[in-house]
Formats: sequence, C-alpha cells, structure tokens
Amino acid sequence: MGIATTYLRAFNGRRLDPYPVEILKRVDQPTTAVRESEIPRLDERESGFNRALRGDFGTQLAKERHRFVSKHPLSGALVNMQFTLAQIVDGMVAQEKAPLPEDPAAMARHIKETAYFLRADLVGICELPSYAVYSHSMGTGEPVELNHRYAISVIVDQDWKTAEATVGNDWISNSMSFLAYSTSGFIACILADYIRRLGYPARAHHARNYQVVLPPILLKAGIGEMCRIGDIVLNPFLGPRFKAAVVTTDLPLAVDKPIDFGLQDFCSRCGKCARYCPTGSISFGEKVIYNGYEKWPNDVEKCTRGRVGNTKGSGCGVCVAVCPWNKPYTPFHRFVQWTMRNIPAARRFAVWGDDLMGYGQPKTENKWWLDLEDVDGRIVVPTHAGQRGNHRRKS
Ligand code: SF4
Repeated sequence: MGIATTYLRAFNGRRLDPYPVEILKRVDQPTTAVRESEIPRLDERESGFNRALRGDFGTQLAKERHRFVSKHPLSGALVNMQFTLAQIVDGMVAQEKAPLPEDPAAMARHIKETAYFLRADLVGICELPSYAVYSHSMGTGEPVELNHRYAISVIVDQDWKTAEATVGNDWISNSMSFLAYSTSGFIACILADYIRRLGYPARAHHARNYQVVLPPILLKAGIGEMCRIGDIVLNPFLGPRFKAAVVTTDLPLAVDKPIDFGLQDFCSRCGKCARYCPTGSISFGEKVIYNGYEKWPNDVEKCTRGRVGNTKGSGCGVCVAVCPWNKPYTPFHRFVQWTMRNIPAARRFAVWGDDLMGYGQPKTENKWWLDLEDVDGRIVVPTHAGQRGNHRRKS
C-alpha cells in the first residue's frame, strides 16, 4: 500500500474542514470578473494605511497612524506580536526532500489538516496568480521576486461573541482585527517553516510582511466572493468577520475552485454595510471594473481617514458587525444561510428579517473588554466610547 493510499484511508469518512465547504457550489471562475491581462501589479506602499503613514492625508493623520492600533493596550499587544512574526516569514529549506505522498490531493489534505491542528478556521489552496504578487515591498521598497506556484490561504475568525457586542467603531475593533491577523500569521509562519523542513520552499505572508495581495488569492481558493464592502472577500459561514494570512510554496498541492453562493445577488439587494458605514465610504451603487477586477467601489481615503482618525475608538468594523452573513454557526443560522445561498427569492426577506430581528445592533450586555486609551504612555479611560451612528438612506 502506497503512502498516499495509507494517508487517504486514514482520513476516510472523517470531515476535514470545520465548516461544510463540500456543500458549496464550486465554479471554474470567480463570480466577479477578473481581467487578468488588465491587472497591474500593485505597489504595497500605495495602500491607504501606508499613504496615511507617509502623510498623504495630512500630518495629523500621519501622527495618528503611528498609534491607531497600539492606542488600546490589547490591540497594542496583538500588533506587537506581528512585529515578531514579521522576522520569521522565510528561512532555510532542508537540503533533502522528505518521503511524502506523491499524490497532490493527499498532500493538500495533509496541509489543510495541519493548518486546522494549528487552529485555522478555514483553509483554501490555489495556484498563485502572478498578478497577486506586489511589485514592491513596503519594508524595503525593493522590487518583489516571488515565483512560488501555490498559495495556501489561512483564515481566522475575529470572534463572534465579540462581534455581537461591539458597536464597530469602538475600542475593541482593532483587537478583533489583530487577533485574526496575528493568529493567522502565527499559523502561516509555522506552516511555512514545516514545509521548508520537508524540503520545499515556502514563505508566510501576513499583515506585517506581505509580498502578495490577498483578495485575488482568497477568490481563487474558494474562500468567498467579492462583497459590497469593497476589496473584501466574504465567506458564507463567517461573513466578512475574518482575516487571512497566506503561505506560498512549490510543494505540489491539489487546488480548490472558486465558490458561488449567490453573494452578488445578495449584496445587490442588501446594502446594509453602506447604510451603516460611519464614513460613507461604501457605495450604494453598481459594481465597476477597477484595475481589472469587477467590484463595488469603495472610497479608500474616506475609510482610512475614518479608521485612523477615529477619536471614539481604535479602528472601525461597523460593516463587519452589521452584515447579515456575520452570524454564529447555530442550527437556526445554518438554515437561514442555506436559504440565502440557495433560494434567490428568500434573499430579500433575509435582508428585511435581519433588520426586523435587530441583528447588527450591538448586544452591549455581552461587552467584556475595557475601554482604555494609551495617551503618551499613560493608560486612561477615553473621553468617548464608540457609538453606532444613524444609518444612511440609499439616495
Ligand atoms: Fe453584502 Fe449586505 Fe454584507 Fe454589505 S452588509 S457585504 S451588502 S451582504
């Protein structure tokens, strides 16, 4: 019996993924157009946060950009971990290849199982598209050379219990983001090191040290579809409530296909994130083609200004908090999500019902964190706690 057969038999009949990804409809191409020949390689230095850092949005915002995550002690601790992880994304590859199953499906299964063992919430694998590699690195400004064949997406939930209690633009928002950034980065660094010890090159990419653009990779790997929030991929089980890290490698792996769960139709009827966005940076309008991608336009500068300059909290996650797909994975919500995925006529009622049932309104009785702010090295109680603003009407 070959090693691959032994391996696959060991898993026979046992569910691999924490969520039932096998019930999702797989398609050959993402549900939003990706015009590969029109996609420029992006320069990471041009992201909204990096532009804020270098002063494109004014000196006050540049100053705030330095502290906007670390101004809460918990998100400060989480982002500190990111600096440590930034140093260990790559390393030596073992000189000899380990005796591994030759079947890429068996290896893909093993790599996913390893990531789940390391506490990933979802994993997807795709070939690495060359257009998803940044042209220049943020850290050094050097051109990026990355020719790995595969990309492994590691997804971590930002925590439902906290999402239920947050108003979005408050003092826990950045901690939710950086819990998932740091944890997915931790998993990606270990996974990449493991693969290198097996004799194959591998590099981790996480929020403090990317060489790749995440949304096109997540789309290809079947993690989700593009949603109205903008450059965000939304997953059918977690909604937009996750962050991702990636491992790129040459280890031969079977790849996943994109998914179609009806989100393009759902987002075109919903618009709840646009109604509640405190900065008005999410569009009520139609999708556009931008840089070769079909997507809903979002105003990156407004969004960055709102998050970095937020004086009533650390960051903002209102769009994540109010989205009807941001739910716990209970039998009731599994049933509702099934109807949202499979019955187009039910989507209108799902949006209406979500509002009617009060979803997206914070359950402040579940709040567990402390509103605190680091002001010049002193921890104080901030003068403002975040509040959900009034919602906008579609005009
Ligand atoms: Fe789409 Fe509605 Fe979620 Fe916005 S809130 S991403 S429109 S489903």
